[in-house]
Amino acid sequence: MRDDIVIIGGGLAGSEAAWQAANRGAKVTLYEMRPKEMTKAHKTGGLAELVCSNSLGSADPLNAPGILKEEMRRLGSLIIASAEQARVPAGSALAVDRDQFSLKITQALESHPNVRILHEEISEIPTDCLCIIATGPLTSDKLSAAICAVTQSQHLYFFDAISPIIDAESINMDIVFAASRYDVAEASGGATLSASLSRTATTLPDAAPLPNHSGFKVMTTKRTARATVTA
Ligand SMILES: Cc1cc2nc3c(=O)[nH]c(=O)nc-3n(C[C@H](O)[C@H](O)[C@H](O)COP(=O)(O)OP(=O)(O)OC[C@H]3O[C@@H](n4cnc5c(N)ncnc54)[C@H](O)[C@@H]3O)c2cc1C
Repeated sequence: MRDDIVIIGGGLAGSEAAWQAANRGAKVTLYEMRPKEMTKAHKTGGLAELVCSNSLGSADPLNAPGILKEEMRRLGSLIIASAEQARVPAGSALAVDRDQFSLKITQALESHPNVRILHEEISEIPTDCLCIIATGPLTSDKLSAAICAVTQSQHLYFFDAISPIIDAESINMDIVFAASRYDVAEASGGATLSASLSRTATTLPDAAPLPNHSGFKVMTTKRTARATVTA
């Protein structure tokens, strides 16, 4: 029996689990298959890479996501501490610069004396140690097959859309305006860039891209279009 805790997957869950276990004195081996083996959504070899939205949701302690964040903060969460260091304006949401966020988590775990990071794909569930499987919705095919066998499941599916990431400097600011996503007054006028299509919507087919901006994702097609933007 190995005396370390094996964590498979260095995403959000695996990184937090490694941090918490290591801070309690456990020896942790964290297996992350990237960059040798990539998923269809990740782009880097960094730990805790955000593949889509850079928002971690509301930071308002009066609602459920905000309470969860406050609880994690009090438990010494690496994810929350890194998010706060990498925070970008997003109204009441906790949004981050995704590169800085991943970098801070990677550096914290790489420099932790109790954590060993191995960039290898694990294809079988280890049986000779305590093991946390944190491979998320994009678990590699081989490990998915192993999980199916153990759980006697046939269907381990996950469906999601992915937002395009747009460089803020590439946006024509003449056709967008800053606003609050939830119509809450914000000192800066708002951290979400929106484009009104009220005058042209009737001439555009559903889900048509905005003029000059084929990268925009049209989320509401009739009157307004909104895109998530990274600064
Ligand atoms: C296309 C898409 C869009 C999404 N958009 C959003 C969104 O906007 N907001 C949101 O909150 N959530 C979104 N999600 C869900 C998102 O994946 C989770 O919120 C979050 O990343 C889950 O964290 P995790 O640690 O479980 O998984 P991940 O962050 O995906 O981490 C799992 C890690 O395990 C690694 N891994 C996989 N298999 C193996 C293996 N066999 N051996 C070693 N390493 C392995 C992967 O490389 C990855 O780094 C999206 C998911 C997808 C696929």
